[in-house]
Amino acid sequence: MTLEDIKARIEEWQKTEHVHPLTCGNNSEHILKPEIRKVRSTRILVLACPHDFCGYVQDMIPEMFSEENFKIPELPFQKTLDKPDGG
Ligand SMILES: [Zn+2]
Repeated sequence: MTLEDIKARIEEWQKTEHVHPLTCGNNSEHILKPEIRKVRSTRILVLACPHDFCGYVQDMIPEMFSEENFKIPELPFQKTLDKPDGG
């Protein structure tokens, strides 16, 4: 599993409407974007907030994205149990 693979999984996750996206530590309305960055000579994957003047970056990537059997959950059919407006 490469960083690119994990990044692609996170991008897919962030685009999926029925899962909870990874959000910014400063503002939970901000949807984080995975980015590969270079720190000294090491490439790392981070989650960065794309909003201007926010600057939130975290290097903790939830473990599920690197698990072999990672799969985005299907749309739950009991959709009506969801809160009407984001909760
Ligand atoms: Zn932010």
